[in-house]
Amino acid sequence: MTAGRGGERGQRRPERFYARVKEYEGRAAATEGVGKDLVNQAMIRHWCEAMGDSNAAYEGPGAVAPPTMLQAWTMGGLSGHTDRSDAYEELFTLLDGAGYTSVVATDCEQEYLRPLRPGDRITFDAVIESVSERKTTKLGTGHFVTTRMDIRADGEPAGTHRFRILKYRPADRKPSTRSLRPRPVINRDNAGFWEGVAEHRLLIQRCSGCATLRFPWLPGCNECGGQEWDTVEASGEGTVFSYVVMHHPSFPAFSGADEPGPYAVGLVELAEGVRMVSNVVGVPADKIRAGMPVRLEFLRTDAELELPVFRGSEG
Ligand code: ZN
Repeated sequence: MTAGRGGERGQRRPERFYARVKEYEGRAAATEGVGKDLVNQAMIRHWCEAMGDSNAAYEGPGAVAPPTMLQAWTMGGLSGHTDRSDAYEELFTLLDGAGYTSVVATDCEQEYLRPLRPGDRITFDAVIESVSERKTTKLGTGHFVTTRMDIRADGEPAGTHRFRILKYRPADRKPSTRSLRPRPVINRDNAGFWEGVAEHRLLIQRCSGCATLRFPWLPGCNECGGQEWDTVEASGEGTVFSYVVMHHPSFPAFSGADEPGPYAVGLVELAEGVRMVSNVVGVPADKIRAGMPVRLEFLRTDAELELPVFRGSEG
């Protein structure tokens, strides 16, 4: 009876807290949201250009919107969300108050029930679908909160968008003299790419059915749907298609101890025609231009990690 009282108290408190936050399951996160614009060809075109998706289904008369745009039609834009419910705000306040002050989006799942077409009016409701038990992750300890948004087009169910975040208390980090780059997420769909990098080869997937090249690596072909593929090795030549220069916030892991200051992230068009995102190095960030020729090299960022980057040359 006397032994372990403190321990019991320590265990019960999180359970009580969990019971409180779990009560928010099933409560509205947003009600009667209305998309700021009707589904429209201009947003579809911008999306397809940004994604490099040239599927004919998204152009011309009878066009539909790419299914993965589902959430885009519900977004509040720079002026922000005006439709978050009181329950959602309360849940966040509770989590913040318990020390789970950081937030990271972890994943989303979508289900498509009906194609969206220009002219469709988007409305939506969202519900707090689940609040997980307390979990400890590499980032820290906290609760996963899953929100399910039900989206309608002209009143008909069009799809669902499930969005999961982790509200967490940041883990105490050992002070480190040097920040390391984030590790790539390697899975069965992209393992071959990283095996190539280990051999200093930049491999592009090629569809066995229609020979379309694709990058980044994906399980299937966007042109023909084929799932068989082989690879071609990039020559390493390319040009800067577009780029951004990061000034703030500064991430020492990216700018590097010997190259402090702004760094450039380029969208590089390889000679083979596909584009990839990587650092453009060897040129001051303010000298990088679209169209600049670049050449592949492999950068060892630390003992465990090598990355393909592109060295520019000032013309
Ligand atoms: Zn194909």
